[in-house]
Amino acid sequence: MSKLKVSELFYSIQGEGRYMGVPSVFLRTFGCNFTCDGFGMPRGERSNERNIIANSITEFKQYRDLPLVTTGCDSYASWDPRFKDLSPILTTDSIAESICEILPHKEWREEHLVITGGEPLLGWQRSYPNLLSHPKMQGLKEITFETNGTQELSKDLSHYLLDWTLNPKWGKRGRDALTFSVSAKLPCSGEAWSDAIKPDVVCEYERVGYTYLKFVIATEQDAADALQATTEFRQGGFKGPVYLMPVGGVERVYTLNNRRVAEFAMNNGLRYSDRLQVPLFKNEWGT
Ligand code: SF4
Repeated sequence: MSKLKVSELFYSIQGEGRYMGVPSVFLRTFGCNFTCDGFGMPRGERSNERNIIANSITEFKQYRDLPLVTTGCDSYASWDPRFKDLSPILTTDSIAESICEILPHKEWREEHLVITGGEPLLGWQRSYPNLLSHPKMQGLKEITFETNGTQELSKDLSHYLLDWTLNPKWGKRGRDALTFSVSAKLPCSGEAWSDAIKPDVVCEYERVGYTYLKFVIATEQDAADALQATTEFRQGGFKGPVYLMPVGGVERVYTLNNRRVAEFAMNNGLRYSDRLQVPLFKNEWGT
């Protein structure tokens, strides 16, 4: 039986990128190949917030009880092994059932599905065909994978997704119904450029579905890095849109630079993405 380790499953409004404002089910899988401890820190330094939280792990009975962080990865509990017991392993059948329960009409209508993480394109790739083929998922029209853009698509998943978008037996949704939202990590994340900027991998996503890049920006150096990364992706053959998005898992940090990022995007002919979940919902778990 096919399974996924699930950190969060919730219904909200997509706050970022192409589907900003669209009612969406978020399936957050457990596991990531990065740690991104550099976010919000001076260059070269690493956040210690999640380590402090992990030291008092017994105080937290469920994922939603965990504190939000202002530095490092704001989804730390969806990959740090010390929090793994807060993310149950569920069958794809039970996930499909739970999804329908949280939809407002108990069936898919205009909502879209976001498969996020952690990094959702690690080993869980093998389980998505079972989930998406479940009878309760037949009405689903659009999917986004939110990925860091470093994991190659398996042949099986790639074939399945091409079939899901183009085969008339599924209602021929069209290639545009599948999105890869690629948040490629710049040096401000603390990850190495050679590990994080993978044009070949992202161009392969573009062959399968609509694909865009999304860079998180805090400083002028990040903005310069985003332009450099964009050049490398373009040289690698990437053709899709590029978004710049202000850093900030908490409103205080987010409002410091959202206007500057918007202006920089405009001045360079790039797209700007808001993070609606921060001003609307304070980026709480389950939003
Ligand atoms: S890639 Fe995303 S989920 Fe993984 S550590 Fe970085 S910010 Fe967190």
